[in-house]
Amino acid sequence: MKPQDEFTCIVCPRGCRLTVDGDLLVYGARCSKGLTWANQELSSPERTVCTSVLVTHGDRLLVSVKTDRPVPKDSMRSIVQTLYDIIVEAPIAMHQVIVENPSDVRCNIIATQSVERIG
Ligand code: SF4
Repeated sequence: MKPQDEFTCIVCPRGCRLTVDGDLLVYGARCSKGLTWANQELSSPERTVCTSVLVTHGDRLLVSVKTDRPVPKDSMRSIVQTLYDIIVEAPIAMHQVIVENPSDVRCNIIATQSVERIG
């Protein structure tokens, strides 16, 4: 993000419109959480990765998963690529750890739904 950019705070549904000046000062935040997020976004942006993973012997073909914490934005592609190559065997419990430290990024990939075993 460049100085004097405008962006939207994604911390809560109010979606405040934020601006950054040439000294990297943030304006427009209605609360301190938004200000903290904006400063994080300027220095090292992070996101929670949400995707799905193939399942075998399950009552559905895919299980939805997410990272258990925000990860560096530039690591998202490699995490998704790692998950693309994985097949998980059912049963799968909600919040079960599917992968630890994918692509050497410090996080766990956890299931956000359960999958029953069939067959
Ligand atoms: S600045 Fe605060 S109030 Fe505004 S969107 Fe962000 S978290 Fe919500």
